[in-house]
Amino acid sequence: MVRRIYIIYHEDFRLHSIELAHPENPARFDLGLEGIRGLAGIVSGRRVRLIEPPTGSLGIFKRVHSSSYVDWISSILRSRKTLWLDSDTYVSSGSIDALSRLAGAVQRAIVLALRGESSLILGRPPSHHAGFNGRAMGAPSQGFCIFNATALIGSILSKHGKTVIVDFDVHHGNGTQEILYNRGDITHIDIHQDPSTTFPYTGYPDQIGDGEGRGTKINIVVPPISGDDIYLDALRLVEIILDYIKPDFIVASAGFDAFRGDTDAVLSNVGSKFYYMIGRLLSAKNKIAVVTVLEGGYGDGLRRGLPAYIAGLLGVRKYPLDPMSYSSRGAWKLYWEYKRHLINNIIENSKIMLPEEYVREYQYNKWRTIKSNIRRKHRRARKRR
Ligand SMILES: [Zn+2]
Repeated sequence: MVRRIYIIYHEDFRLHSIELAHPENPARFDLGLEGIRGLAGIVSGRRVRLIEPPTGSLGIFKRVHSSSYVDWISSILRSRKTLWLDSDTYVSSGSIDALSRLAGAVQRAIVLALRGESSLILGRPPSHHAGFNGRAMGAPSQGFCIFNATALIGSILSKHGKTVIVDFDVHHGNGTQEILYNRGDITHIDIHQDPSTTFPYTGYPDQIGDGEGRGTKINIVVPPISGDDIYLDALRLVEIILDYIKPDFIVASAGFDAFRGDTDAVLSNVGSKFYYMIGRLLSAKNKIAVVTVLEGGYGDGLRRGLPAYIAGLLGVRKYPLDPMSYSSRGAWKLYWEYKRHLINNIIENSKIMLPEEYVREYQYNKWRTIKSNIRRKHRRARKRR
């Protein structure tokens, strides 16, 4: 249970910026902070505390990236030049200040977590597409990410207790997955949009980890234009896995870009309900602390999804939520296909034991029941309109 949350934020995170229009820009904080301020009056100020991180050494990222990559990036940062690492990812004169604060924020979040306190790093640039040497798993770019704070926090906390990473950005956390692919001591669950339709084009259910890590990477694929109904079904599987593992620490790789209308780049139809519910779930299923790292989210996702998630973490009752959104039959069908592959993979390759009734439900594939449920939900949604 999360009693209070420390929001780790510093104005230096804004110094990573470029003059050209770019979706990953400092104005994202205006949206996120507006969302958090909106919690005033709903949540006591004592339960959401804003704190500033110190600066930290970039060397800490060598725990999850190659030395040569960290040294190379550090030398670029020290030159304080603006340049593009690839077609999506830039560094600017102030990036060294932002990333030094990110290193400090990681350290602060870990100290807090070991004391049983939960936190949210409201930082930039994001993390989860940054792999061991930069680009991960054959992705066309680093997707705005430079160093992977998510993998780093997960990696450090796993030395202190059972740790699960839950990534709910609409894009697959390919960097995190690559870095942890052979690690058996940390489970990485990732809910994301169908990789055949969006960046980074990875995260299929058969990417399960290798060596000791075999079976510890769980990729839950949702089709484009999925509504809350499919996302909540995905959440049920997350719940079952967390119930089995009983983690001490949960690291949330939190993107809010599945929120409807958040960005032009993806087409999702998720509202605040999903973010609230995942907050509640992570809050209920950790034994010591939840550490959240901000990933994507470029519009309404930050303004409305982020505060809903925090309200869920804090177990706020009567939080005003958007009405449920429902998915089309075609989306459900595709989702079910992916889920069937995933469940098979979990049964065959993972130590995770799924409850019998859950497996039975998918094995006998009550597709007919699901179809009639979908029809019923659509009827209900039509009536409300
Ligand atoms: Zn994203």
